[in-house]
Amino acid sequence: MADIAAENALERVKEYTGRYRMQHGTPPLCYVHSFGCQQNVSDGEKLLGALVKAGYEKCGSFEQAQLIIFNTCAVRENAEDKVYAVIGDLKKFKAAHRDTILGLCGCMAQEKKTSERIQAAYPQVDLIFGTFAYPRLYELLAEVLERKKRVVDIEETAGEISEDFFQLRENKFSAFLPIMYGCNNFCTYCIVPYVRGRERSRKPEAVEAEVRQLVSDGYREIWLLGQNVNSYSYGFPALLRRLNEIEGDFRIRFMSSHPKDATPDLIDAILDCDKVCKHLHLALQSGNDRILKEMNRRYTAEDYYKIVEYARSKREDFSFSTDIIVGFPGESYEEFCDTKKFIKRVKFDNIYSFVYSPRSGTKAAGLPDGVSDKQKGLWLRELLLEQREVSTQWLSRFVGRTCRVLIDGKAREPGWLTGKNDENIIVNFPCADEGMIGQFVNVKITGSMNWAVRGEITE
Ligand code: SF4
Repeated sequence: MADIAAENALERVKEYTGRYRMQHGTPPLCYVHSFGCQQNVSDGEKLLGALVKAGYEKCGSFEQAQLIIFNTCAVRENAEDKVYAVIGDLKKFKAAHRDTILGLCGCMAQEKKTSERIQAAYPQVDLIFGTFAYPRLYELLAEVLERKKRVVDIEETAGEISEDFFQLRENKFSAFLPIMYGCNNFCTYCIVPYVRGRERSRKPEAVEAEVRQLVSDGYREIWLLGQNVNSYSYGFPALLRRLNEIEGDFRIRFMSSHPKDATPDLIDAILDCDKVCKHLHLALQSGNDRILKEMNRRYTAEDYYKIVEYARSKREDFSFSTDIIVGFPGESYEEFCDTKKFIKRVKFDNIYSFVYSPRSGTKAAGLPDGVSDKQKGLWLRELLLEQREVSTQWLSRFVGRTCRVLIDGKAREPGWLTGKNDENIIVNFPCADEGMIGQFVNVKITGSMNWAVRGEITE
């Protein structure tokens, strides 16, 4: 946001926040809520950082705020429905708080049809801006503040990546750090390439500088993010090796990875780099080749398995997790069963599975679909039961081992804390000292369940 128009707009927003502070004795408050994936959370933190730089102060509830921004997600229909419900509910609030600005941004705002629906049916929304408009945040906000009229920016072209955003991170020990944006893959069910544009990668120098800063600020875990992180155009394995050289007590994770770009080089880099977690989240989506083709995934189940085999030839219990779509249009029960068999063959530590959700504007949304949602729900249950069996057995490999765990919060059980080990497995252990959240500890694993392991802190 370093160009002259943005600088001028920043001054205009600052004039407003300064005036507000003079009149009320406090700065205006802003509330930013992000729906959806880590990338969206990270965008929300950048928008928040930009607003704080302009003189706003962050607050924890929309009722107090002079500026409310909902950063939306378009990946599944129910994510969109949630947003419609939230902005619908805000109609009365907005009528009673005319000076409060209500903004909507993110993937839903970038979708033409959705944005038109919001413009037509939700007059309470003052500011609508898509994912490509973030560098113009100050200009858009200054316009709304000065003209007191709705402003819409759903420009369809992604510009250069802006390195000027200051990200106000909520979490003080684990940081999301986007290294690339957009996607070139056009999987037939996915809206991302339409709302996030084509792939653009940040320069390795910029990524390295940010990681160094985060480490010196005390961050213990850095998540490298991208819709397709391993197609990072400057070489993802090389980036991992470069970041691994940075001194400090921290670990590196990344997501999401596409199987077509998961190479032996990537596995080697993960295994060679002591700071990179020994876990690969690799989205499978289906274990049936016809469905994979219909999805335009550009790999077969066997291609996928080759990567698993390579990783396990180097480290017998290399950890994989995955995403699965159940009930893709035209999928038969037999084809679904191929996925069930495949998850058993790979032995995933964890799967994130969803019933297929049609997204208008994508190719798959127009495909005939003879299976009811109810039936798909039953298939999903079947898949989860299969995975439950796999992980119950597979997670028991940790029993007796000592794992390094980054403590990330309180466990459900009173007097227990929880965290994740290198393989991204949830580890619960008795410890009443909440001051230890954000620190690494060694935990000797004494038992396992189907979704987590438990143990005791050891030296
Ligand atoms: S690779 Fe991922 S983000 Fe890209 S189109 Fe496919 S599902 Fe969407």
